[in-house]
Amino acid sequence: MINALTVDLEDWYHICGVEELSNPSEWHNYESRIIKNTDRILTILHQYGVKATFFVLGYIASQEPGLIKKIIDAGHEIASHGFFHQRVFELSEKEFEDDLVRSLDVISSITNKGVVGYRAPEWSIRDSTPWALSILRKHGILYDSSMVPLTRMGNRNNPVSPCQFKTEYGKIWEFPLTTTKLFWENIPFSGGLPLRMVPYFYIISKLNRMNREGRSGMVYIHPWEFDNQKTKIDLPLSRRFMHYFNIRVTRKKVEGLLKHLQFAPIRELLDLNKC
Ligand SMILES: [Zn+2]
Repeated sequence: MINALTVDLEDWYHICGVEELSNPSEWHNYESRIIKNTDRILTILHQYGVKATFFVLGYIASQEPGLIKKIIDAGHEIASHGFFHQRVFELSEKEFEDDLVRSLDVISSITNKGVVGYRAPEWSIRDSTPWALSILRKHGILYDSSMVPLTRMGNRNNPVSPCQFKTEYGKIWEFPLTTTKLFWENIPFSGGLPLRMVPYFYIISKLNRMNREGRSGMVYIHPWEFDNQKTKIDLPLSRRFMHYFNIRVTRKKVEGLLKHLQFAPIRELLDLNKC
């Protein structure tokens, strides 16, 4: 079985829910660390011969087109992470569509081809945004990876494996956050804070078990998780924890997974290469 490896290509200051960081016109004041951190990821992926899906923030693509070209040249898939890193449930339909189109335009102008994948910032396609998948499909998106089967962040009844939804513009795949069942709840473990908190042997044994059962898991990482330097911004305690807890272990854990499991970009895994 092959698993999906995904990278949310955003800089350290793209954090939802922090007032001080929410205004894009202030972002130029923050030190850009995206190139250095992405290079670290590209080096590791090259070392293990793994290709991934990079969900690129349109803002990053507009600032660093050379970085996007470098990722394409290394053979990875480029998909969209929106433009301004806004949570979908905080936007109107129109605002969501505008942000999506802006990201697709800037990314396509660099890649010279259409974008077929999308991931919302903070997995923010929820029950309160029933229009989101239709808008994505309307603009040529063939798969989304923004839904979580979690009680607090999404809906416990959301899909736990890749599946297709019908929209008025055609079918769209959903590749949801990978979770494991613990009593009556689904628990995440394969990326971000959960990957940094949960012991490595637990992560690899869960993914191995999924693969033995014929299911693909998804590992997701962020460039800022490969950066040990602390931010000078005073983040609220919960955000500081989410962002920096156990950050030093990310690289080692990810390298272990790349060494022992099979990975591919989502587009390839869902067999959308011909589309
Ligand atoms: Zn993000």
